[in-house]
Amino acid sequence: QRANLENALHNAVEKKQFQLYYQVQVDNQNLPVGAEALIRWQHPVLGTVPPQDFIPLAEESGLIVPIGRWVIETACAQIRRWQGNPRTAGLTVAVNISPRQFYQVDFVDEVLECLSETAIDSELLKLELTEGLILDDVDAAIVKMNELRRAGVQFSLDDFGTGYFSLSYLTKLPLSQLKIDQSFVRNIGINDSDSIIIKTIIGMSQSLGFEVAAEGVESQHQFDFLEALGCQMFQGYLFSRPVAVGEFEGLL
Ligand code: C2E
Ligand code: MG
Ligand code: MG
Repeated sequence: QRANLENALHNAVEKKQFQLYYQVQVDNQNLPVGAEALIRWQHPVLGTVPPQDFIPLAEESGLIVPIGRWVIETACAQIRRWQGNPRTAGLTVAVNISPRQFYQVDFVDEVLECLSETAIDSELLKLELTEGLILDDVDAAIVKMNELRRAGVQFSLDDFGTGYFSLSYLTKLPLSQLKIDQSFVRNIGINDSDSIIIKTIIGMSQSLGFEVAAEGVESQHQFDFLEALGCQMFQGYLFSRPVAVGEFEGLL
């Protein structure tokens, strides 16, 4: 089954069966400020395959390298198109980066190439890294992140609060944003200790000068709680599910 899937995934790369969905991110006034790009595999028989069903295999097999390159190219091309329209100009696009992709020797060059080919404002591209990715090789990660940050690229720390991160790293990394993991958001009003963790993350982000974002916001109550504490960016089903680009533009 695994071999079959890996075969099909090889084909998918060649046949360009991938698609990026976009999930809107809003500010505390409910205004769209960006989108997270989330990959989908449009399989001719299986239909739409979610990323958790193929990203781990892509990562193990190395196929994540061409797939990840396609994601960055497609996201940059989208930023370029959106820059031409006053309704969409200025929207940031967040892209998830996987460890194997990030630690490729030419990762930085590839991103820089995409930026110069599309001639987009590089501040609009936001790379989402996880604590685990950075912990794989903190020193190398700092070097790569600094190179890209100098070119304008922004970084968000995804699923924050779930890994084994040393807080001292936060001051060493050129991060723009911390993204509170949805497991904490889900427990707002249910589990007091998770609410305390959220409060702490937001307070710490403010002190360190990072923007703080929350994902998995599904209810008005969760939004109000986060907003009152000073959370600046919100993403979740309360606003929209991830959708194809046409639908995303309609939603705006
Ligand atoms: P993530 O980066 O943490 O993305 C957030 C996930 O939460 C997305 O799942 C999104 O659809 C889902 N989500 C958003 N709002 C809500 C909500 O209100 N409630 C709930 N229950 N879920 C919500 P998705 O699209 O299935 O992606 C899952 C994971 O797959 C992502 O987690 C990310 O780690 C990975 N992924 C997605 N696209 C890519 C990609 O292009 N490259 C890589 N390397 N990984 C990707
Ligand atoms: Mg993400
Ligand atoms: Mg996340």
